Amino acid sequence: MGTTLYSLPKLGFGYKDLEPFISEEQLRLHHEKHHAAYVTGANGLLERLEKARREKADLDVKSTLKEFSFHLGGHVLHSLFWANLAPKGKASDRPVGLLAAAIEKEFGGYEPFKKEFTQAAVSAEGSGWAALSHCTLTNRPVIMQIEKHNVNVYPGLRILLVLDVWEHAYYLDYKNLRAKFVEAFWSIVNWDEANRRFENSLK
Ligand code: MN
Repeated sequence: MGTTLYSLPKLGFGYKDLEPFISEEQLRLHHEKHHAAYVTGANGLLERLEKARREKADLDVKSTLKEFSFHLGGHVLHSLFWANLAPKGKASDRPVGLLAAAIEKEFGGYEPFKKEFTQAAVSAEGSGWAALSHCTLTNRPVIMQIEKHNVNVYPGLRILLVLDVWEHAYYLDYKNLRAKFVEAFWSIVNWDEANRRFENSLK
């Protein structure tokens, strides 16, 4: 059993450690304000549901669950995102292990994979994410382009590597130049973590 509320995870590195790719100011704001807001939001919705059940009060179930999906999606994706980043030089900078082999087989290598993932990230409409995932039905790696935090998610796929392309992820450092942020991302990917997730998912 987990805890009964969501909580903001600590980062596995310092706020300055992703520079120059992500500045301290940008990372702090993103983690301490934006991610924290989704944690608060998801917990608030749990509380709203509990209160309505306790008081047997009317609840707008449709809008409550829609909000819950948004905030919980935000919390889960950010938690995965931080853990699949690493300061440059602190983790493998190319796919490793069984994940490297799966990427080779599915996409024809790291470069074609990178190109397709980059296109998914750059072209996400409005606010969203690109996610490399494992489809356990086919054992294939699959790229998802998620809108907001919860739209276009394929149910049941396990996320291996995720990139936040909401403006709040890069605006201080890159202004409106999302493609520059996406290019910088490749320097701070933690491929060891992505492979660990893949090998766990295969079990
Ligand atoms: Mn974000």
